[in-house]
Amino acid sequence: MEKINLKDLNYKELKDWVLNQNWKPFRANQIAKWLYTKKVDSYDKMTDISKDIREILKKHTQFDSLQLVSYKKSTKDGSIKFLWRLKDKNTIETVFIPEDNHNTLCVSTQVGCAVGCKFCFTTKDGLIRNLSTAEIVDQYLQVQRFVGLEPEKRISNIVYMGMGEPLANYENVKKSIQILTDKNLAGLSNRKITISSSGIIHQILKMYNDKEFPQVRLAISLNAPDQKTREEIMPISQTNKLQELMKVIDNLPLKAGYRIMLEYVLLKGINDRPHHAHKLAKLIGKNKKKFKVNLIPFNPYPEALYERPEEKDILLFQKILWDYDISAFIRWSKGQDISAACGQLRKKEISNLIKI
Ligand code: SAH
Ligand code: SF4
Repeated sequence: MEKINLKDLNYKELKDWVLNQNWKPFRANQIAKWLYTKKVDSYDKMTDISKDIREILKKHTQFDSLQLVSYKKSTKDGSIKFLWRLKDKNTIETVFIPEDNHNTLCVSTQVGCAVGCKFCFTTKDGLIRNLSTAEIVDQYLQVQRFVGLEPEKRISNIVYMGMGEPLANYENVKKSIQILTDKNLAGLSNRKITISSSGIIHQILKMYNDKEFPQVRLAISLNAPDQKTREEIMPISQTNKLQELMKVIDNLPLKAGYRIMLEYVLLKGINDRPHHAHKLAKLIGKNKKKFKVNLIPFNPYPEALYERPEEKDILLFQKILWDYDISAFIRWSKGQDISAACGQLRKKEISNLIKI
């Protein structure tokens, strides 16, 4: 029988599991502290837990779900890309991104992706499988352990923008966020977690109506200002129409201080012309304080169908949005020298990485 992984359990499930072993309830908090605060790498390091109990834990549960294959650190900005092997030999990636006064982690949620956006490398071989909750949570725990637990190394922000469509792996993503934000477990702030979706309307509504889904930030990969262009680059748009998507997100109830991020990959000659920027501004319309636009210059890869726009066109696109009083940022991708750009993660050039 497959052993369970305690990192698949939210706080309530962990407490129930402990009670089922006929252990005292405080054991749940003890185990949680070692896993999520101290981030130890084995049961043997849980020194205030009796040896008998540690033996039972070892026998019935598995520990880390990810095995580090290789990593590469950018010499330009210090971001680090990790390649992990899963128990079934599939591989996924995670990126650690140091920023001015905090650190962000970009996590993967699936091996591959079924959505099929034309500009995205992750989806090339379709969807292989969903990641388990533990495989998502372990990306955070194992990277934090790797970079160190010192305050300046602490990961405070997590973006679900790696491989995969998070809302297509709803239950496991939801539980991973419960674990990451529970004060009794990893204890990160809801406000510092962002889920990025390609805009699957019924899943977005499900998430907002789900009382048990922690209220995190939402990013939508819009990528085009009109139905025709969007359908061309994102086939999912045939069934999730742009107008309806905009109407739905326009009406979402947001927590104070939250804005929805509209991601927009800039593809040369396809969606980067000034008239596209004007159309985007019109699409956003009056409710502009509810949104901020994140412009992502396309990161090319071998055999890609698209090109990255010229820098002057990228800046002009931003300027046009500013003129409408829309807040727009350019995400000059970090870690370009290590192909770490969030959202175009892929297993390549493994031989060039540092072998573990
Ligand atoms: N599936 C989710 C999250 C992962 S993709 C989503 O689509 O939102 C994260 C972001 O990376 C998306 O906004 C996507 O449009 C962008 N992206 C994908 N491939 C890219 C590439 N080659 N260059 C730049 N951005 C890319
Ligand atoms: Fe999937 Fe996101 Fe890539 Fe689209 S951009 S194929 S949704 S990972």
